[in-house]
Amino acid sequence: MTQNATKTITVLGATGSVGLSTLDLVRRAPEEFRVVALTANSRVQELAALAKEFRPAVAVIGRQDKYPELKDALAGTGIECAAGDEALACAAAMTADIVMAAIVGAAGLAPTLAAVRTGTTVALANKECLVCAGDLMMQEVSKHGARLLPVDSEHNAIFQVFDVNHTNTVKRLVLTASGGPFLRRNSATFSTIKPSEAVAHPNWDMGAKISVDSATMMNKGLEVIEAFHLFPVEKDQIDILIHPQSVIHSMVEYIDGSTLAQLGSPDMRVPIASCLAWPDRMQTPARRLDLAAIGSLTFERPDYEKFKCMALAKAALNIGGAAPAVLNAANEVAVAAFLSEQIAFTDIPEIVEQTLHKCDMKEPHSLPNVIEIDVEARRVAVSQIAQLK
Ligand code: NDP
Repeated sequence: MTQNATKTITVLGATGSVGLSTLDLVRRAPEEFRVVALTANSRVQELAALAKEFRPAVAVIGRQDKYPELKDALAGTGIECAAGDEALACAAAMTADIVMAAIVGAAGLAPTLAAVRTGTTVALANKECLVCAGDLMMQEVSKHGARLLPVDSEHNAIFQVFDVNHTNTVKRLVLTASGGPFLRRNSATFSTIKPSEAVAHPNWDMGAKISVDSATMMNKGLEVIEAFHLFPVEKDQIDILIHPQSVIHSMVEYIDGSTLAQLGSPDMRVPIASCLAWPDRMQTPARRLDLAAIGSLTFERPDYEKFKCMALAKAALNIGGAAPAVLNAANEVAVAAFLSEQIAFTDIPEIVEQTLHKCDMKEPHSLPNVIEIDVEARRVAVSQIAQLK
């Protein structure tokens, strides 16, 4: 960063892929950051080790049954320990210059919202909370004067090249997609895909859930919904473009025919650093782009038949109301079932589609209502899985 003021930071989901990348940057710039709170869900020893290293005021574990283990591990350190949903929200609401919202899934909604309500800067990795409660979340952002900085590499790319002062000059957003590990695989063999194959992303090293979402390409559909809420564009102004090398992270096309893109090596520390240092820049150890070595960048249109989840997400955005929340909940249930080998890879879009058919699509009117929709959609998705057996 060009200025040297210390920023205080809370990391929600500290033990995950984004959380660890964030703390890696903090570790490299110890004078520039002071950690306020760290949270995790079940990986208590990992959380304790991070707490001992970064010395936050508070360490919170989501699972109540893990509290004694956390307390033991941090005994004598002076770091306050807590557990449970309320404690997660309290940690998120502690005074901090920046809150990294990197919990996975709809579980991130309440803590992210608690951070937003303090009016601080929230670096948003947790795309699911915008998918299931986008309108309500953005209302809370403006009501409390908070600032959302997108961490997702595509949205961060768009954020970097989007002309906020001339939004009427934007023609469309182009979200690039690597296509995931199965871009070239014959879809006739999709039913035999194992979890270990689905989590092996060709370009990015990510948590299990988002890796499966990338393999089904649901991730790109969720990102279309996320982009719709983050940027002042219409639904039909957001396109998906397959770009297997993941060098161009997304683009904004303007009315004069200019297209602006952000490029970089596929390393989440680049978009995370852009959020941590914003509006300045900071050093990262990310590999520098060597375009001459890369040689060529290729592009192709997405295949919505082969990757049905992408089509389902776009349909949910167009249906509106509760549909994106239902889609998200059903997908979380289906992905967890796939990872625990209860269902096949090809069952994921089926479960999501069936759940969308069976749930009420009425617009959620409040955040508790979003949670009710989420709970009901999960119940329906679980019953759909039971019927497969
Ligand atoms: P991980 O699965 O690697 O980490 C998730 C984190 O959330 C962990 O710290 C986990 O704790 C915590 N967590 C999980 N469930 C709960 C819960 N019920 N309550 C509280 N905390 C919980 O995920 P990623 O880091 O890959 O992804 C995080 C978010 O960022 C996701 O929304 C993802 O879509 C988004 N994202 C991720 C990218 C990436 O490169 N990984 C890129 C762009 C967006 P524990 O470790 O104890 O289980």
